[in-house]
Amino acid sequence: VQLEETFIPSYFGWFLFASVQEKVKCTSMEFVKTLDTLDAFKKHLSDFTGKAEKEVDLEQYFEAKGPLHCTTKFCDYGKAEGAKDYALTPAVKDFYGSTTELSLTALFVTPRTVGARVSLTEEQLLLWPTDAEKEAESVVPAAASLPLGSRAHITLGCAEGVKAVQTGLDLLEILALQKEGQQGEPVEEMELGSLTYYGEGRWLLSLREPICTAACFSSYYK
Ligand code: GDP
Repeated sequence: VQLEETFIPSYFGWFLFASVQEKVKCTSMEFVKTLDTLDAFKKHLSDFTGKAEKEVDLEQYFEAKGPLHCTTKFCDYGKAEGAKDYALTPAVKDFYGSTTELSLTALFVTPRTVGARVSLTEEQLLLWPTDAEKEAESVVPAAASLPLGSRAHITLGCAEGVKAVQTGLDLLEILALQKEGQQGEPVEEMELGSLTYYGEGRWLLSLREPICTAACFSSYYK
């Protein structure tokens, strides 16, 4: 058992095929660049800069690192709560190394992160930890009442000093607002879909056509 423990990875998740990573990165970059030019965005610039007059280059603002992926379970080499149980789940063993298609249904930007919402299928939900949303409760109180899989996302970039774990929390925050009945402020129809502003620098682009990307269920060690 001790030997097995040393093999628990940093995290499990779906890793996007190299061939689609560029496509997803380009789409998100295009969105971020366009967002930066909108009057509606400029109006709320202080969300990002702290000052109204200051300009922000969103392209430079976010930094992307590592392979694009959708984390299922953060394990921290076995130190994270429930890591070992998850690693031993039959579904994890069954699906390990298999490929699937992830459906990206929205892109979002906050002063901390830029990410893509992933809408999981029933089969993909078999790999989703039952407490993934609840785990975020201390940060997003309404998180536990959101449907399983709500937190599923791909981190596309983080602001300086922000950790990747923030992206899922930012997504949960937006979904919690929606659930509370906050419609957000419809901003405009963009080529990719409709853009909504949820206050405090939170922007959500609901994609007209989901982006489907091939991914492999695997794990990451660094
Ligand atoms: P890296 O430094 O870019 O490899 O990122 P991290 O090691 O911080 O995180 C790796 C992956 O696990 C990212 O997708 C994070 O969103 C996710 N992650 C990090 N910490 C946590 C956590 O406490 N809970 C959950 N659920 N996910 C996490």
